[in-house]
Amino acid sequence: MSTKRDYYEVLGVERGAAAEDIKKAYRKLAIKYHPDKNPGDHTAEEKFKELGEAYEALSDPQKRAAYDRFGHAAFAPGGGGPRPGGGGGGGGGFHDPRDIFETVFGGGGGGIFENIFEQAFGGGGGERSTPGRGNDLRYDLEVEFEEAAKGIEKEVAFNVLDTCEECHGRGGAAGSKTETCSTCHGRGQVAHSRGFFTVASTCPRCNGAGQMISNPCKKCGGEGRTQQRRKIKIKIPAGIDDGSRLRSSGHGEAGIRGGPHGDLYVVVRVKEHEIFVRQDDDLLCEMPIGFTTAALGGEIEVPTLHGSARLKIPAGTQYGTMFRLRGQGLPNVHGHGLGDLLVRVLVEVPSKLTRPLRDKLEEFAKLANNEAYPQRQSFLDKARRFFSSR
Ligand SMILES: [Zn+2]
Ligand SMILES: [Zn+2]
Repeated sequence: MSTKRDYYEVLGVERGAAAEDIKKAYRKLAIKYHPDKNPGDHTAEEKFKELGEAYEALSDPQKRAAYDRFGHAAFAPGGGGPRPGGGGGGGGGFHDPRDIFETVFGGGGGGIFENIFEQAFGGGGGERSTPGRGNDLRYDLEVEFEEAAKGIEKEVAFNVLDTCEECHGRGGAAGSKTETCSTCHGRGQVAHSRGFFTVASTCPRCNGAGQMISNPCKKCGGEGRTQQRRKIKIKIPAGIDDGSRLRSSGHGEAGIRGGPHGDLYVVVRVKEHEIFVRQDDDLLCEMPIGFTTAALGGEIEVPTLHGSARLKIPAGTQYGTMFRLRGQGLPNVHGHGLGDLLVRVLVEVPSKLTRPLRDKLEEFAKLANNEAYPQRQSFLDKARRFFSSR
């Protein structure tokens, strides 16, 4: 206690500084020395603690008055100085920040406060749910349309932080001992006083494990995981749609020092097909047919996923007519049967006429009157009525 720095000096403010200025100075320095911004830097950690202590004293008018009169002796444990602020608790003096944490938040948890903390400081991720759990990974896998339709097993290879082969994820070299982390005393979290708030964050020294290894593994530096190449097989279910996400449980990053693996999320990208378009579980195919087939009727061969099928075209089929081939679509990915194949016929007018074809068509044109074209006939009737009514 005797070597403590002056609280005003710690905050870098004048003795007579206004409460507002003390608050501002504290905020600025707290961000600067925050452990999340200075991982592994013990000087910064000490400064951060010192800062919290100074601010707690100077932000409370009663405590500040006592400090102004008696200096650090005002808060010495069991010391003769007056007890500022009442507070009721025995022991007096400054709390260990961890105690504040436990009293305020009941210890343990702290997840939600970490979130608040990250927002406040814009700090990077960190494992929120299970300490030491490996990150989830995403893999974008492109498959052919037919592969998605029929289902397939694909091998994927990627680099990943995987369990260290040397120490089997334990993080310690042979004969290494595990010791309780001296920074967080095994809690895995450290608490920081920020004025009226006490916030908890993952201990920067042990990364939340609460334990340290006396002789870390050389290969992984004690993390229990190393960068490795992993190959796994992914089962693509038949009928999977573009953008679907498959979870491969436990195939994400290895956790720190034997912590649980994250998951691998495979996002399936289905390539477009040249002739089929997907509509839910149905397949749509637009197929040109000759105008004589449409007029006379006939049977055509249509492509399907598994080869081809025969389709009967009735005489007088118009442009855009849709035909349905039951069960020739995609299998439902959840096993609910099969979709249909929808064939939309595009009646094509010949555009390259040889001399004999032209002769025949001209002959046809002379013979065909409007009665051969009911739609045209109907339109002309309407048009005639329209003109005569004016
Ligand atoms: Zn290792
Ligand atoms: Zn620790």
